[in-house]
Amino acid sequence: MRAVPLIQIDDNKNWQTILAEAVRDGHELLRLLQLEGSGLAAALGGDKQFPVLVPRPFIALMNKGDEQDPLLRQVLGLQEEELQVPGYVTDPLGELPANVRPGVVHKYHGRVLLIAAGGCAVNCRYCFRRHFPYADNRIGRKQWQEALEYVAGNDSISEVILSGGDPLLLDDAALSGLCKQIADIAHVRRLRIHSRVPVVIPQRITAELVSMLAQTRLQVSLVLHVNHPAEISSQLVRGLDSLRREGITLLNQSVLLQGVNDDPHVLCRLSEALFAAGVLPYYLHRLDHVQGAHHYALAHERIAELYRYMKEHLPGYLLPRLVCEEAGQPHKTVLMV
Ligand SMILES: *Cc1c(COP(=O)(O)O)cnc(C)c1O
Ligand code: SF4
Repeated sequence: MRAVPLIQIDDNKNWQTILAEAVRDGHELLRLLQLEGSGLAAALGGDKQFPVLVPRPFIALMNKGDEQDPLLRQVLGLQEEELQVPGYVTDPLGELPANVRPGVVHKYHGRVLLIAAGGCAVNCRYCFRRHFPYADNRIGRKQWQEALEYVAGNDSISEVILSGGDPLLLDDAALSGLCKQIADIAHVRRLRIHSRVPVVIPQRITAELVSMLAQTRLQVSLVLHVNHPAEISSQLVRGLDSLRREGITLLNQSVLLQGVNDDPHVLCRLSEALFAAGVLPYYLHRLDHVQGAHHYALAHERIAELYRYMKEHLPGYLLPRLVCEEAGQPHKTVLMV
């Protein structure tokens, strides 16, 4: 008898429907992966403050019956998150002081980050945004106007970064309106979109999105967030291909995570798989010391060892910059290992 796939993905569903049908419960996630009887069931937790949220196309990439699955490990809420560990704080990046007005984070010269959407399509357990006051940064029309005025009034800004939350949770019409308003500011030359949505819901790369990004006068780049080569689905590759054909620069940032990608071979395979999909590895982040994420942290010696291996085995252009964020610094800090 043929095995029936547990999770069927319907290519014809639009991304909003797929998002609405995302799994929001740890037990259901374990059930879909045939792990309800595993030790993980008793360890579930951490979701009161930061709910579980995982779209089904991402679950379809996980290995059934594998407690250690590297994709599962990123999204399953566990009681460990509730431990208070010294040195792990709620605002490790010192973003609150740089939050110059609602929805605007201006920390680095020439670039401004706009919080274009409050939520994400997936709740990554290690994320520093688990504590970010999105409710105070949810921008309505008036605040958008003020954010754009801030950019317009500061001619040192040549690049606008749409971040979040996840800007690709805005629909194509909203994004297109925003993009036009940004393009109307003469000194802005580049638009950058930081998003994990295409990784967890590749259907988000719609024809409308591609054509909108192709048409703006701004030079567009998309920075994805992929941590493990198993996250790169054939559907994602197809979507990225259509963006690349329109001249959109594709970059990736990853986070080093214990139990997910703390393996030199996995990291090298990730760089290779990204490049095969037309994406350049940009940043490899050391985990921010955010409360609730301590169990993902790696010792400095281990980080150094992993990165040295990458240096010795990858061409320079496939070696992401190893960085961390230090509050108050005018740039990301490149770690010398
Ligand atoms: C990371 C980041 C940027 C972008 O930095 P790049 O080095 O240009 O990639 C901009 N603003 C903020 C607040 C950031 O955290
Ligand atoms: S901001 Fe990025 S890393 Fe954080 S939860 Fe959203 S998608 Fe995940």
